[in-house]
Amino acid sequence: MSSPSGSATDFVPPRPTLAKLRAAAKGCRGCGLYKLGTQTVFGEGPRSAHVIVLGEQPGDAEDRAGRPFVGPSGKLLDRALDAAGIDRDDVYVTNAVKHFKWAKDARTKRRIHKTPSAGEIKACRPWLEAEIALIEPTVIVCLGATAAKSLLGRAFSVTKKRGVAIESHWAPAVFATVHPSAVLRAPREQRSLAERMFVADIRKVGQYLAKHATTGKRPGRPAHKFNEWPITAARSATSNASTRSSRE
Ligand code: SF4
Repeated sequence: MSSPSGSATDFVPPRPTLAKLRAAAKGCRGCGLYKLGTQTVFGEGPRSAHVIVLGEQPGDAEDRAGRPFVGPSGKLLDRALDAAGIDRDDVYVTNAVKHFKWAKDARTKRRIHKTPSAGEIKACRPWLEAEIALIEPTVIVCLGATAAKSLLGRAFSVTKKRGVAIESHWAPAVFATVHPSAVLRAPREQRSLAERMFVADIRKVGQYLAKHATTGKRPGRPAHKFNEWPITAARSATSNASTRSSRE
C-alpha cells in the first residue's frame, strides 16, 4: 500500500536531521519499490560534506548491506575521489531512489537492475530534497543519466555536458558524469579509457573544490535557492534546516 500522496512526502519528518530522515525512510511506503528492495538504502556521510555524490538507486550489494556505494561501483568511485584529491570524509553519497528495483534473470536467477520509472524517482524525491537542504553542498556530482536528469531536467545530456560545472538552484555547481557501473560494464577493450574519462571528470570536481571550498568559505548560492522547489516537503525541510543549531 502506497502513501496517500503517492510519494515520500508523507514520511519526511518535521524538523529533520540526517539521523531522523534515515530512521523515517526505513518505513517509507511512498511508492511500490519498498516491496521489492530488501531495505531502504539511505544516504551516508557527514552533514558538513561539501560534496554530494548522487547515484540512481542502490545496487544488489547495497540492497543487501543497507548502505550506498559499497559494491564494485563504490570502490571505483572511491578510487576516483582519491585520484582527484577529494577527501572521502567530505562526501555524502546517496541515490535518487532509495530502494533497489530489480527483476530476476530467467537464466541465471540473479537479480538484474531495472531503471526506476519517472514516477518512482518523483515519489522518492522528498528524501533527496531534504538531504540536499540539510547538507547545503558546494557541489553535487550526478552519476549517470537518471541522477542527472532528476536534478537538471529531462533534456540534460550527460554525453554532451559531462565534467562541466553547471550552476543550479540545487548547489553552486552540479557536475554530471557516467555511473561507475557503466564503466565496469564497458567492453574490456574500452574499459581502461572509460575509467580514465570517469576519473578525469571527478578531477574537475576536485579542481572546482580546490578553487571554491578549501578556504572554508562556500561560494554564494543563487538567490532563488530553496524558493523554487516543487515539493512542499522540501520547503518544510529547508525552513526547518535553516533553524538548525549544530551539524551531525
Ligand atoms: S523508493 Fe523511495 S519513495 Fe519508494 S518506497 Fe523507497 S524510499 Fe519510499
